[in-house]
Order: sequence, then C-alpha cells, then structure tokens
Amino acid sequence: MKPDYLLKHLAFPSIFAILMTLFSAFPSGSAPLPEKKGHGVPILLYHRFAVTSSTTTTVTVDEFKSQMAWIKENGFNVIPLAQLVDAYQGKAPFPSPGSIVIVIDDGHRSFYDKAYEILKSYGFTATLFVYPLDVGHNSTMTWSQLEELKINGFSIQSHTFSHLNIKKVRGDMDSDSYEKLINAELLVSKMVLEGKLGVEVDCLAYPYGNFDNAMLKEAIEAGYAAAFTIDPRPNFPGDAPQRLSRYTIVPGMSQKTFARILDTSRPKPDQGPFLPFAGKQTAPAPPNDLLGQRDNTSIPAIRHD
Ligand SMILES: [Zn+2]
Repeated sequence: MKPDYLLKHLAFPSIFAILMTLFSAFPSGSAPLPEKKGHGVPILLYHRFAVTSSTTTTVTVDEFKSQMAWIKENGFNVIPLAQLVDAYQGKAPFPSPGSIVIVIDDGHRSFYDKAYEILKSYGFTATLFVYPLDVGHNSTMTWSQLEELKINGFSIQSHTFSHLNIKKVRGDMDSDSYEKLINAELLVSKMVLEGKLGVEVDCLAYPYGNFDNAMLKEAIEAGYAAAFTIDPRPNFPGDAPQRLSRYTIVPGMSQKTFARILDTSRPKPDQGPFLPFAGKQTAPAPPNDLLGQRDNTSIPAIRHD
C-alpha cells in the first residue's frame, strides 16, 4: 500500500475518529486482557504415575488418590472433554459451575497400571492424548489396552503422530516443507487412531504445548475441532478452541494449589453490589481476600518431557 493512499483514507474525519476511539481504549503499552467473568472449566493434565515420583511429571499414586478424593468430596463434576468441545462448537451449553476435565498425555503404561482403576472406582472419565508412533513400544500402552479404555468410556485423541517437537524442526525447514510435515503429522495421527480404534478423533494436544500459526492452521484443516496447550488457566466461553488451556499437575503440588485450580470452575465470590461513590470520596482498595481470588493464572506452568 502506498503511503499517499493511506494518508488519503486517514484524512476522512469519520474513519480517523473511529480509529482514535478504538486506540484510546487501550493505553499504549498496557493493553489489558479482557476480564474473564463467571466460571471457567479447568482441564487437569497428568502424564505418568508411580508409587514414588522420579520425574517432574510423575505423580505418585497416593497424590492421585487424594486428588480424586478431593474432587469427589468437594462436589466437583468430572465431565468428558467432548462436552466442553461441544460447547465451543455451539452444540451444547457451556458446562455448569463445578465442571472439570481430566486428560492424560503420552499414553504412558503407568496410567493403565496405576491410575485407571482409581478413576474407575470414582466413576470418573478422562481423555488420553496419544501419539501412534509409540503405541505398544517401550513403556506405552498397547492398542488393546487403548481399546479397553475406549470400551470403558475413556476417549482417545491425538498428540500428533510422532510427538513432533516443532521447536526442533522448524529452524531447519523452509515454510512449505514445514507446513507439509505438520499436515502429515496431524492427518496421519488422526487416520491411524480412527482406523485402529474406531473412534472419532477431533481433539489435538500440542506436544510440549508448542504451537505456531502453521500448527493452528493445519489443525483446523485436518479437521480438529479443538486443540490444547499447557497454559495454566481455566477455559472460558469465547476462548479460541484451537488454543484451549490445561493445568499440568506435577508431583508435590500442594492441596491448596490443587484446590485453587478446581475453584476456577466456580463463580468468583459475590463482590457485593456496586455502590457509586458520592462527592469527593475515593474508591476504597478491595479487601485482600478478593485480591487473592484474581491470581488463578499465576500458578506456574511446568513443561513436560
Ligand atoms: Zn507429550
């Protein structure tokens, strides 16, 4: 666009006024994120399970048991991931307060051996994001174990075909080859999982939580209705379905932190009626306990291996 073309259009007072109005709403350098109202839906992300934790993503069996008990005893409702995705597609209302989702990445065998029975004992369901290249190898679950999970109401979804690390491959490729690689990873993963298990695969978990514009675009083109990061925040109505968030649950997480994550599924406490301030009176600072309710996004992200 030539500069004189731009200037000519900016010279129209009406357009200029609209632009000024838009920009004046966001003071330079401090554009605020919109305040999220009401309740969100937190997704709890697990990886591995063991009697004693040995990695940053291995939750102990005792921790997992006490977390599931906390969910039950405090009246939270574990919903299928598909119910949340349906809401983003306009097929269902946004889940009611107290709704949470459980997911497990990587298809590690320890889920089947250590956590599956615990979930079943509570009547909870979960979604497993697996990558077909590694199914049945090393320490991952087999196709028949995944089939058993499916029959028992668990969902199996895509974690790309090979657990693609885009940060590693992106620098070495031209953009055309890069997009083709992502396209193949997403399509083949979906095709293999659907073919082997007879399920519909329309959800994608980005390996390492990494995504970029090419990944977002190819996920949509490959037919994924929703895709998931590891940004530690709840999901709200209106969020982009191609970058929904998940809280990584790590070993040693305090019950207080776990409870704070779950509490994002409930409306914030009533902050009282709005009282206009008369005369020269200035607004008082909010009480500390209300300030404490606003920092749900400060729970640290832990990158998984
Ligand atoms: Zn992973």
